[in-house]
Amino acid sequence: MTSDRPRSASSPRPRRPTLFGLIRSGLPEPPPPTDDTLVRDLGLRVQERARQRLGRSLALRLVDAGSCNGCELELHALQNPFYDLERFGLRFVASPRHADVLLVTGAVTRNMREALERTYQAIPDPKWVVAVGDCPATGGLFSQSYACVGPASAVVPIDLTIPGCPPRPQDLLAGLLALLESNGKPGRR
Ligand code: SF4
Repeated sequence: MTSDRPRSASSPRPRRPTLFGLIRSGLPEPPPPTDDTLVRDLGLRVQERARQRLGRSLALRLVDAGSCNGCELELHALQNPFYDLERFGLRFVASPRHADVLLVTGAVTRNMREALERTYQAIPDPKWVVAVGDCPATGGLFSQSYACVGPASAVVPIDLTIPGCPPRPQDLLAGLLALLESNGKPGRR
């Protein structure tokens, strides 16, 4: 129901946000809830186990075999100032020859099959391969696509799967810790 009373000059109509205004000022959102103590604890344990197991920090090489980029965003989040992965000695490396762990995201597309195989071959033994997210684990949403070969296990041997769509940064850290605490593969080289 609308009021018949005329709006006085002293009570102006409330301003609605305009598209221009939103572009100028952005749409502020609160940061996601994060248990910093849990992240720090996981990170320190990963650092300690990597030193015991490898005698140094853990080096990671990522291959996006055909993901929607959701999993990459979470992996990138590990490197931002909020999670600050490098304070625990973990780092992403550009060359597979410097890596201990191959992280695979996405269901493997036909175009990326050879790149994934060659990256795997280039990482020195012993090495771990981790499927990050549901897509490389099962083929996920894209398993029936004509463009996909299938899950990562159809191309390279998988040592660990971190489920989720996408997995959260703390799940990724917990997965890497499980890898370092497992009995299989790398020792010092
Ligand atoms: S698991 Fe989910 S977020 Fe990750 S690549 Fe597949 S669809 Fe994207």
